[in-house]
Amino acid sequence: MSSRLFAMIEKEAQRQQENIELIASENFVSEEVLRVLGSCLTNKYAEGYPTRRTSGNKGRYYGGCECVDEIEEYCCDMWRKVFHTDYHVNVQPHSGSNANLAAYFSVLKPGDTILAMDLNNGGHLTHGSSVNFSGKLYHMEFYNVTADGCIDYDDVRRKAERCRPQLILAGASAYSRRLDFAAFAHIAKSVGAYFMVDMAHIAGLVAAGDHPSPFGLADIITTTTHKTLRGPRGGLIFCKQELAKKVDSAVFPGSQGGPLMHVIAAKAVAAEEACSEAFAAYIHQVVKNSSAMCQEFIRLGYDVVTGGTDNHLFLIDLTKTGLTGKQVQEALDQRHITLNKNCVPGETRSPQQTSGVRIGTAAMTTKGYVEEDFIRVAREIDRCIKDLQAAV
Ligand SMILES: *Cc1c(COP(=O)(O)O)cnc(C)c1O
Repeated sequence: MSSRLFAMIEKEAQRQQENIELIASENFVSEEVLRVLGSCLTNKYAEGYPTRRTSGNKGRYYGGCECVDEIEEYCCDMWRKVFHTDYHVNVQPHSGSNANLAAYFSVLKPGDTILAMDLNNGGHLTHGSSVNFSGKLYHMEFYNVTADGCIDYDDVRRKAERCRPQLILAGASAYSRRLDFAAFAHIAKSVGAYFMVDMAHIAGLVAAGDHPSPFGLADIITTTTHKTLRGPRGGLIFCKQELAKKVDSAVFPGSQGGPLMHVIAAKAVAAEEACSEAFAAYIHQVVKNSSAMCQEFIRLGYDVVTGGTDNHLFLIDLTKTGLTGKQVQEALDQRHITLNKNCVPGETRSPQQTSGVRIGTAAMTTKGYVEEDFIRVAREIDRCIKDLQAAV
């Protein structure tokens, strides 16, 4: 490696060490996850699935897979253990987006209708944004949120009855309230739609019992492994056993080639960690920290979307400050506080500007922050916003 490249990586390591990281989708993995990501497993091609798996797959397409077979099977077993489930699991998706792509492929045809949450209301790009494959390949319908930003379950039902979707999707990237999976499942059943949950953000909370579990209710569940689950970057798909074959073939050969065996092994490390008491305690603290910081912003007079949080994140609506999300994000960058601008429900600005910022507590809780640390950071952000208001 050139010293130039080494220096670039060192600079990022230092940034991660020194900055206050509030991006809700980020976290810091353990040394063991890092070590396994850098292991020799990256050298191995293993298209296909471990031979012993029961989804009717044809095994691997390459020789020499006996070691990685064992690793992938162990990884699957461990993730089922994390969520106390007998669902089928596919651990090969390279990312959350790839997991969603394969999940859609498994049960939908192009042109089918998906009922999901709009990006502006907290949904993800892969939930039907017009610039994403999901919005180009499927007919999208979106359910609304109420005036305070909470999911409008009456609207979910009305829209489902009107548009008769093949799939109803619950899950979000910027939604601070508990999702009522039972209500979604009930509506999906009543219109004969598949019910899919994308728990990318809240999966760590589900694992620790701090958010209701979608297992037993959803037909398909996707997640990332790198957000609150604190594992390597990647995706997972869980499904009811009867969809196992469809899901597996939608991942490979449907949408991916060779699996990333080093990442799959690192996912197994993350699953082992997620089964521990220490992880549950960590997630409880993440939620307590989020609540404490959110309360402090409310006390300081800020508008929090939905008026609070039940999970690891919340959104501040900056409209009444006269500032954009972009301005606040950039000003905080100067003070070594990292967060991201975010659309708010009823957004009037472009996604490049936005009227809000999203704040999450998963990463800094990993670094040992407790409630009083987050309250201190909230006050620092408040000072920054006030300085910015005085300057413009
Ligand atoms: C982060 C996220 C994804 C996508 O994950 P990538 O690994 O970035 O592709 C999908 N769905 C939701 C709800 C997310 O928050």
